[in-house]
Amino acid sequence: IEILPGARALHFAEQAFEGMKAYRVGQASANLFRASDNCARFRRSAQRLAMTPVPEELFLEGVHTVVGACTGLIPGASGQSLYVRPFLFGTEPGYAVRASHSARFMVIANPSEAYATGPMRVLIEREQVRAAAGGLGTVKAGANYAASLLASTRAVERGYTVALWLDPTTRQNIEELSGMNLFAVCGAELHTPTLNDSILPGVTRDSLITLARAAGTRVVERPMPVAELLSNLASGACSEVFACGTAAIVSPISVIGDADGRDYRPAVLDGCARELRERLLAIQERRAPDPYGWTTAVAPLSRPRS
Ligand SMILES: *Cc1c(COP(=O)(O)O)cnc(C)c1O
Repeated sequence: IEILPGARALHFAEQAFEGMKAYRVGQASANLFRASDNCARFRRSAQRLAMTPVPEELFLEGVHTVVGACTGLIPGASGQSLYVRPFLFGTEPGYAVRASHSARFMVIANPSEAYATGPMRVLIEREQVRAAAGGLGTVKAGANYAASLLASTRAVERGYTVALWLDPTTRQNIEELSGMNLFAVCGAELHTPTLNDSILPGVTRDSLITLARAAGTRVVERPMPVAELLSNLASGACSEVFACGTAAIVSPISVIGDADGRDYRPAVLDGCARELRERLLAIQERRAPDPYGWTTAVAPLSRPRS
């Protein structure tokens, strides 16, 4: 990339992105999963950052071109895929604090292995917040990740995988992980924090809610006090906790650690999570019928279009 050192992306974090996957399990051509939902969120992210959104046709053309050109490189075993990263950043140089008048849209991709790093150990972050109420938390902006890095680093130093964020206003309610939404299994119900003005609405979250409800599971979206979750884990009322997002799909959580050094271990590891992951993956990989119209085929290209 040729970029001016004064480009606003480098000084004012004027950057938004998406994360999506293309699958090619047992097929010659690849398919995307809920690409138009990623496009709609990319639009909202750009608008929140006062950038001109990428038109849907251009977004899909970029994604289809990259995936089509990479089709031969997509590994074909279950769980493997091509991770696709569209992104948009302000290129106009200047210190005046206003939106950039020029921007660049790019799409990059890399083959992605089945996510096999094992269950996650999450650490409740009691001091910092990921996103302010009314800030950038509901959109996919690089700035949200920048805000999360110090807590992530500290969590890893203490032997955990990732930080668990609380709401920025009361610091009492669970929100999500730095790049994944969270679910808890309480009795026969599936609970997840209600979307608010600081939680990122994940496509995977929405897909799991749809699949769980279709299977007859009661899904409850509500504010989830962290104190209640911890006492429910201790009493066994809550049996399992897992996270979800495009990269890892559904990832079990083995430990929730608190700042005071106490660890809470859900009784079940990868029960409901495994079931939902398999059901979702079967649709994503076109091994099962797709009653929701979530998948779209991508025509392979022998070489990238110029
Ligand atoms: C991307 C992201 C998620 C997961 O969203 P998906 O659409 O399921 O990939 C969750 N939380 C944050 C903060 C994210 O950036």
